[in-house]
Amino acid sequence: MNHSDEQIKRAAGLIRNAKHLVAFTGAGISVESGIPPFRGPEGLWSKYDPIVLDLDYFYRNPEASWKVIKEIFYDFFGKARPNPAHLALAQLERAGILKSIITQNIDNLHQEAGNTVVHEFHGNSQKLICTSCGEHYAARDVSLDVLPPKCKKCDSLLKPDFIFFGESIPADAYTSSVKAAENADVFLIIGSTGEIMPASQIPHIAKQTGAKIIEINPETSRYTRSVTNIHLKGKAGEVMQKLLDEMRADILALEE
Ligand code: NAD
Ligand code: ZN
Repeated sequence: MNHSDEQIKRAAGLIRNAKHLVAFTGAGISVESGIPPFRGPEGLWSKYDPIVLDLDYFYRNPEASWKVIKEIFYDFFGKARPNPAHLALAQLERAGILKSIITQNIDNLHQEAGNTVVHEFHGNSQKLICTSCGEHYAARDVSLDVLPPKCKKCDSLLKPDFIFFGESIPADAYTSSVKAAENADVFLIIGSTGEIMPASQIPHIAKQTGAKIIEINPETSRYTRSVTNIHLKGKAGEVMQKLLDEMRADILALEE
C-alpha cells in the first residue's frame, strides 16, 4: 500500500518548519527521467557488465570500457531531463527551505533543475578528467567518435569524472556531505537502497545528530526500519508533487 494523506501532511509539516532541510538522493530519483538504477531486474547491470567501471579493467582495456561507458552514460543518460522530483527540490531551494542536496547520482539532473548547492558524492558524468595531468573537460566539448578520448594537452587517456569501482570518494564531497548531514534538522532520503558504502552512512549521521528522517521510495530500503521516521511509499515525482501541493501557500509566500 502507498503512503497515506495523513503521512503527507505530517511530512509537509516537518519540511515547512525545518530550519535546515537537506536531501539525500540515489538512482531512484532519476528513474522517472528514464535512467534505470544499476541493480534490480530493470537495472543497467542486467544488460551490461559492471566490469567496465572497474578501475583496473578500465586502464587495461580503455577502448572496450569506453565503448560501453559511451553507450550508457553519454548516448543514453545524456538525453535525460529533470523530472518533477528534481524540479520540486529546486523550488524548495529557491524558497529558502532546502539548504543542500547530497547526491549519489552522476547524471547532473539536480543542477539542470536549478539546484545550486549539490554535494556530488560519486562525481559527475558531465565532466571528464585526464588520467595523467588532471585537466578537466566538459563532456560536451569532447568528441567520442574515436575511443578512447585523449587529453588535448598531454595526449593521455581521459576518464569520466565519476567514481569507478575501486576509487575513493572525493575528499571535499565527503567532508561537505558529512557537515550537511550533521547540520540537518530534517533529512529527506529519496530513492536509495542504502547498500552502497560509504554513502549509505550519511543518513545515519543525520539521524545521530538529531534529524527527523523522511524517506521516499516505492520499496522498503535498509533505511526504512533503521532510521526513517516517515516512509512515503511511492514514486519520487508523484510524492514530491503532493508534498509541494500541501505546502503551496507557504512556498509562494516565501518565494515572493
Ligand atoms: P540505489 O541505492 O541508488 O537504489 C535505487 C533505489 O531507487 C531503490 O531503492 C528503488 O526502490 C528506488 N526507486 C526506484 N524507482 C523509484 C522512483 N520512481 N522513485 C523513488 N525511488 C525509486 O542503487 P543502484 O541503482 O544500485 O545504484 C548504485 C549507485 O550508482 C548509487 O550510488 C547510484 O546513485 C548510482 N547510480 C546513479 C545513477 C544516476 O546518476 N542517475 C543511475 C544508476 C546508478
Ligand atoms: Zn592530460
